[in-house]
Amino acid sequence: MKKIPFNKPIVLGDEFKNILTLKKKCFFSSNGFFTKKIQNWLIQNIDCKDAILTKSCTAALEICALLLRLKKKDEIIFPSYAFVSTANAFAMMGATPVFVDIDEVSLNIDVNKIEKAITKNTKAIVIVHYAGVACDMKKILKIKKKYGLYLIEDAAHAFLSKYKNKYLGSFGDLATFSFHETKNIHCGEGGALLINNKKFIKRSKVIRDKGTNREEFNNNIVKKYTWVDFGSSYALNEINAAFLYAQIKKAKYITKKRINIFNYYKHKFDYLNNSKSFFARLPKIPPYAKYNGHFFYLIVNPRMRDEIINFYKIKKIQTLFHYIPLHSSPFGKKISKKSGDLNVTDLISNSIIRFPTYLGISKNIIDLISIEFKKYLRKLKIQA
Ligand SMILES: *Cc1c(COP(=O)(O)O)cnc(C)c1O
Repeated sequence: MKKIPFNKPIVLGDEFKNILTLKKKCFFSSNGFFTKKIQNWLIQNIDCKDAILTKSCTAALEICALLLRLKKKDEIIFPSYAFVSTANAFAMMGATPVFVDIDEVSLNIDVNKIEKAITKNTKAIVIVHYAGVACDMKKILKIKKKYGLYLIEDAAHAFLSKYKNKYLGSFGDLATFSFHETKNIHCGEGGALLINNKKFIKRSKVIRDKGTNREEFNNNIVKKYTWVDFGSSYALNEINAAFLYAQIKKAKYITKKRINIFNYYKHKFDYLNNSKSFFARLPKIPPYAKYNGHFFYLIVNPRMRDEIINFYKIKKIQTLFHYIPLHSSPFGKKISKKSGDLNVTDLISNSIIRFPTYLGISKNIIDLISIEFKKYLRKLKIQA
């Protein structure tokens, strides 16, 4: 049998057709035809005030950090169960990360533990919609308002996921997407910054354009462009944007397909819900979350997790663990603070197992993955 990978980046076909059109346009750098098309698509579909394409989600997060004009004493609140870039983008601009635990159901930041982490130095809350599942936005927006904090959504997993009827990425002052090949839609590597707070619009473009007012020059507002602020080379180039546009146009179709895959997994592992002895549980999607099927996972007994991954590896099926908690990482330990205990983060980090979720995975493969899991349980003499 051929190896079944965790991820297979999709290619629909029109990506390379779009890239070839650039030959005639003879324009390959940033802010061209495809970039503008995608930015308009994001503004119209996600319902944000403005959007800019970036080289990566990491780059978009760095723009967020620069927009906040961080000072040495500033603290930013994050879930500890997050990707390195989520916190690193802000730490490298001088702020101190303060890590809060996640809740056991959604695996997102525990909304009941945020307020305890807020001090007079807190500047912003950065949330992650883990696995594409929306955070509890009603409660988070209430806290944001009460303390006058900025809110940033790291929506890297959450393209076209919703909280109730509103797309994620439209709630925070700022929000970021990733178009890395491990995400639902991609261009190899790319990202986007979404802006919902109007005061950030003008400066976000200066930061993207290496700290220059090039955008104003392009729009004939100034005669020459010059160095006006901090910034870097954050814009996506047209070759990647051309690739991405083919997928953006089919994004709703891709999302539907992924949800179908996720639901089929859920159906095949449904027997775990009736299993008498707790050994493994399915994802629990809160009722307010409309999910994009980013990946299917199980929460298993932490003593068995690595053994299960190895068990599948022998069968040539790639399953994966996920984040090492940022508060216990070597660099996190040096520069961050913890708010309260982070027991749920530690537990989930040790018990999650992610299953192959990519467009084109067949029902047969998912059947096989679930049958193998049953076999494994039987070996342990667990009734399933
Ligand atoms: C993938 C990911 C990122 C980084 O995305 P890049 O586009 O690779 O920079 C950031 N945050 C989260 C939650 C991610 O999953």
